[in-house]
Amino acid sequence: MSVVLIIEDEAQLARAMQINLRAHGYQALAAGCGADGLKLAAQHRVDIVVVDLGLPDMDGVDVIRRLRGWSEVPIIVLSARHASEDKVEALDAGADDYVTKPFGLDELLARLRAASRRSPAGRGAPTVETADFMVDLAARKAVKDGQDVRLTPTEWNILELLVRNSGKLVSQHQLLTQVWGQAYAKETQYLRVYIAQLRRKLEQDPANPRHLHTEAGMGYRFDP
Ligand code: CA
Repeated sequence: MSVVLIIEDEAQLARAMQINLRAHGYQALAAGCGADGLKLAAQHRVDIVVVDLGLPDMDGVDVIRRLRGWSEVPIIVLSARHASEDKVEALDAGADDYVTKPFGLDELLARLRAASRRSPAGRGAPTVETADFMVDLAARKAVKDGQDVRLTPTEWNILELLVRNSGKLVSQHQLLTQVWGQAYAKETQYLRVYIAQLRRKLEQDPANPRHLHTEAGMGYRFDP
């Protein structure tokens, strides 16, 4: 079943889309702002993202840019704006398609079908193997020495975000806001605790990590 993430602040519209998509065989998640949407996208296997350009906390185009930092998931933009530069900006940022409000359900469903066809199964949910452990993003599990590693949901969410940004610095701010939420943006000690736990569970030598690196004062980086 395809999972559609709807990022839309008009609650009634979001609710109507959710009900209709479920009636047409989709699983539908909804977020009312960009930060919640990014968090859900990092936490769940999502096949298609539908994002409104006018969100209360950030521009939809920024949501697209941030998603594209680590995900190739098909993105369909919703907007009441008619200016063609908005469409161009959204497409340049990495959106795949565009629906102008008001739109009919049939049109949205057609765009979703087209987006699913462009989305090979398993895309955006790879398996990453290191010399010491394996992370299966689709199955949401980590395996070390042939054994499943028991991770708490928070540990998993941090690991997934790092693995999806493999080789790149993920800032403390990004980790805190996407894993815990906007209110936790400054709680960097949480990260130190959880990263230490992940190293104990995954690294061969937790004191000299080979895969979960600290970039002092900035953030963390996963290297396979
Ligand atoms: Ca809106």
